[in-house]
Amino acid sequence: MVAAMEMRSGDGAAGPSSREAASAAARISGHAASLGWSMQNGIISEVACKLWTLVFDLWRGTSPGKRAGPESQVHRPRLLDNPRMRTHVLIAAAALAAGVHLAAQQAARPDPLVRENATQEVADHVYIIPDNSVPLVPNVGIIVGDTGVLVVDTGMGARNGATVLREAQKLAGTKTMYLATTHVHPEHDLGAGAFPVTTKMIRAESQVQEISEDGLAITERFKAMSPFNAEVLKDAQFRKADVTFKDSYDLDLGGVRVRLMAMGFNHTKGDTVFFVQPDAVLFAGDIIMTRLPNVTGPESRVQQWLSSLDTLEALKPKLIVPSHGPTGDAAMIAPYRAYFRRAPV
Ligand SMILES: [Zn+2]
Repeated sequence: MVAAMEMRSGDGAAGPSSREAASAAARISGHAASLGWSMQNGIISEVACKLWTLVFDLWRGTSPGKRAGPESQVHRPRLLDNPRMRTHVLIAAAALAAGVHLAAQQAARPDPLVRENATQEVADHVYIIPDNSVPLVPNVGIIVGDTGVLVVDTGMGARNGATVLREAQKLAGTKTMYLATTHVHPEHDLGAGAFPVTTKMIRAESQVQEISEDGLAITERFKAMSPFNAEVLKDAQFRKADVTFKDSYDLDLGGVRVRLMAMGFNHTKGDTVFFVQPDAVLFAGDIIMTRLPNVTGPESRVQQWLSSLDTLEALKPKLIVPSHGPTGDAAMIAPYRAYFRRAPV
């Protein structure tokens, strides 16, 4: 749909009065296109597409009927013969289309809920609850040894944390439960309150520092994103660490060793990755994903991110579980390296 609109926008024969409106419509359409045109809600999408078609027909100075064939011009509305009127209709249609488009995006965006009964085994000792590429849902990891179980990331708020806990308990039984997070953003960390007091929370010192400096502001920022976030984060608090480490920490789950590594400031100050040694599975947080890097802080540095990629590639991971989006193998690293090498240092 966007490609078709772009093609049509190039051959506009609009008169001077409609050019202004056309550029306004182009700005709105460009904004809509940059939002990704990722509408999934059929009815609203259809309405938005039809409106955009109308906008571009008007932009070209044609009637909506012209595209249907020569005979339909007979039914061309007379008011559209007037260039001023056509301009007004164009602006109104563009505004309406943009509104409907945004509504479609809202409608298509599901609530950020970790799915129940969706846990999948991805290696001998590693399970994940895939995010299904739903925004603000993490890929949750559950790593199982003979004596202990480590959960990586919690989902946002106690409601999601409770889901993750139920899934983890199915695999943990009476084993010791450990909990750690890839970083302190609420969809990764602020479900920890749902876990029982016996759960041992492990944090990098950089995470502890980030929580004390920015934890409140981060929570408020996420609460302000939507009423759903505000509700699930209402009483959420960052959980205190039972174990802290500076650079790395080897956790023995009984026959399964997991290396936790503090990676410095890439996506956040407290970025932590997890390498499950017997299975060569890497939980890479936001440091490696299939989508573009999410550079969120003024302290994010290209050189730091490149050096993190070198460190993680040297682990020779067979499977990479990013904190969001599809899993993959070590080939996920090269596009990130290429992206950062092109970026200004
Ligand atoms: Zn994040």
